[in-house]
Amino acid sequence: MKTFNIDSFIRSNIKAMKPYSSARDEFQDFEHEMIFLDANENPFNTGLNRYPDPQQKKLKELLAKQKNVKTSQILIGNGSDEVLDLVFRAFCEPNSDNVITLPPTYGMYSVLANLNAIENREVLLTNDFQPNIQQILETVDNNTKIIFLCSPNNPTGNCFTEENITFLLDNFDGLVVLDEAYIDFAQRKSWLQKLNEYPNLIISQTLSKAYGLAGLRVGLLYASEEIIQVLNKIKQPYNINTLSQEKAINVLKNEDVLKNISTLFTEEKRKLIQQLLKFEFVKEIYPSDANFILIKVDDAKKRYQELVTKNIVVRDRSSQPLCENCLRISIGTPEENKIVLETLKNL
Ligand SMILES: *Cc1c(COP(=O)(O)O)cnc(C)c1O
Repeated sequence: MKTFNIDSFIRSNIKAMKPYSSARDEFQDFEHEMIFLDANENPFNTGLNRYPDPQQKKLKELLAKQKNVKTSQILIGNGSDEVLDLVFRAFCEPNSDNVITLPPTYGMYSVLANLNAIENREVLLTNDFQPNIQQILETVDNNTKIIFLCSPNNPTGNCFTEENITFLLDNFDGLVVLDEAYIDFAQRKSWLQKLNEYPNLIISQTLSKAYGLAGLRVGLLYASEEIIQVLNKIKQPYNINTLSQEKAINVLKNEDVLKNISTLFTEEKRKLIQQLLKFEFVKEIYPSDANFILIKVDDAKKRYQELVTKNIVVRDRSSQPLCENCLRISIGTPEENKIVLETLKNL
């Protein structure tokens, strides 16, 4: 197992600060019928008159069981956006530290870096959309705190190889954030079961994609107990509202949903790709382990506009490096996919 001292990575102001202690943190006996007069809540029942559980205990217990991790290895946030922001705030010193991101990739990492006054060092993926290991190692310096890996990667759709991820975990002496937002659509397994092996590994997942709850805003972060403790200390006390906690539990309980969705998307994606191959304006279809595909076309701007006039909105990713004339198409319902194909046929 890798040795890694998280203590030296925590920003000094965060190490020194005293966290907010809420009424619900200080008194936690939920087994007995108590009269709660400790949080200045309105006592009359509206269904939401009480503050939510600041530690989301029930939701974490369910996740821990399903994902085979400890509840103390889970942090829940208002979308992945929040949990990733907390990682910056806990471990990166503004105006002196830097992180490494690997474009073309998810845009939020660089937004969060800018927001937190952290230099974002971009190392392009290779032509087959894998991390450029050599160049990453050359870019790392003493102030490099985090490398962001997105696998399956958005917008390219592919997973990074196990060798590449393992190499970075072994050879980079900082934190590796692995964004697995699309892992439930992938053929590869999640890295969750390697958490105990790599104390510098942080995994983010979300209920926004496979679970179909983008509107709920629930992001999940898994890491060592020590890392979670730091993030827990600095999160907003009541960051997940009562309705979100309840809805997340109800959806997670039905484990078949995930399996069925994953099977449906794999099949729909296969059909879509098979048909798209027949169109002459489609130059390349990149392999996808996600619920979207990236395709290179003859003229992305033109094809995008043509689709919009037919009431179909895809994402033009041409502005991204290595993605010239590329469109990203999310897999829709079987009915929607059929309409997309018919529309493309008539272009
Ligand atoms: C969609 C997506 C997310 C999800 O973000 P939420 O804030 O949880 O909705 C995270 N990472 C990547 C790469 C994504 O594409």
